[in-house]
Amino acid sequence: MRALLLHAPGKWGWEELQEPDGDGVLVRVQQVGICGTDYQAIRGRQPFFTYPRRLGHEISVQVLESTSDLAQGTYCAVNPYMFCANCQACKRGDTNCCYELRVLGIHQDGAFTRLMRLPAFSLHPSASLPPTVLALVEPLVVGYHAVKRARISARDQVLVVGQGPIGLACALVAKALGADLAVMDIREDRRRSGLRLTERALAPGENPEIVVREAFDGDLPVTVIEATGNRAAVHQSYQLVASGGTLVFVGLYVGNFEFDDPDFHRRELTLRASRNGTHDDFCAVMSLLENGTIDPSWFITDQISLNEVPDRIGSLDGARGCIKAMVDMSAAC
Ligand SMILES: [Zn+2]
Ligand SMILES: [Zn+2]
Repeated sequence: MRALLLHAPGKWGWEELQEPDGDGVLVRVQQVGICGTDYQAIRGRQPFFTYPRRLGHEISVQVLESTSDLAQGTYCAVNPYMFCANCQACKRGDTNCCYELRVLGIHQDGAFTRLMRLPAFSLHPSASLPPTVLALVEPLVVGYHAVKRARISARDQVLVVGQGPIGLACALVAKALGADLAVMDIREDRRRSGLRLTERALAPGENPEIVVREAFDGDLPVTVIEATGNRAAVHQSYQLVASGGTLVFVGLYVGNFEFDDPDFHRRELTLRASRNGTHDDFCAVMSLLENGTIDPSWFITDQISLNEVPDRIGSLDGARGCIKAMVDMSAAC
């Protein structure tokens, strides 16, 4: 079978692979979402990345060989976070920040191929969700985990900064939990996406604090979720949290974050990072999808085949109006 390999930034090639044998459930890849991490890897801007690498970590699959728990033909979302289960973080249940964490498609080869063998615990089956939606589960889990880290309650004032797919996932989940939601983005097309979730889709303008206070009747939000990974936006987000509030960093930028310590104390802020998600987060997102509480199918704006990836992926990177590009793997051979 053929697999698509990223040899170096911008350099793609096909490799011939043996069909996988050994441990794990044999699955056929169905859909693979393209995310910011992939675009960064293709541009050579991903700090945790080594080449050559087979991309693909937002994955849906179909089970080819039934197991005791999974019938042949079942569609599943895939948890691509391979943790060690033995380190201090794993033993505490924080498998998302395992010291030895290996993510499919990033630290080890991912889903740009026809067949894979995956551990049964990484498969989340659904009888009702289509493979396109199942491939959105991983980015939704990233948003769900960030909202969980923010510990928001119903009617809390929440601002999500950045309306790319992860910011949208955060906003979708926060809204489902009953948050008093506003979103912000400098890009008009991304604010338009945010408008599907709240009428308060804000442009930061000259003075973001004035804009945000206007949206929250003079208050600042008690929770700000930062989903841009942009240095200026990260520092700006810090200024937009109410006293006693919480700032969650789900976007990642490579650099130092600095703040004035007396100001941090005066406002008694809580600052949290959010990384990936856990098995429980996958289960929670699966039930939110299956019971119809969230519907992210409109995230998918572009569909291409695996053969088209080398030629077309560059034009999707940062493209206006593109929320999520999905690679249809059904023709992969
Ligand atoms: Zn991703
Ligand atoms: Zn571990």
